[in-house]
Amino acid sequence: MKISFNENEKVKNAVLEGLKKTGGYCPCRRERTEDTKCMCKEFRDQINDPDFEGYCHCFLYYKSK
Ligand code: SF4
Repeated sequence: MKISFNENEKVKNAVLEGLKKTGGYCPCRRERTEDTKCMCKEFRDQINDPDFEGYCHCFLYYKSK
């Protein structure tokens, strides 16, 4: 299993910029809770799911099996 940044610099930088503005909360979501702090619960669950491979909701990270 490996987690890497999106190789598309434009996408990566846009999301990182968004995270800076929100103070670390997921820029793709309106709620600001522990669950939406990067890495958000959704992605943490996807990391723990042995069958999941793909991008997080914001396309910042890619998880490969
Ligand atoms: S979707 Fe991606 S960028 Fe957004 S909080 Fe989750 S892990 Fe971070």
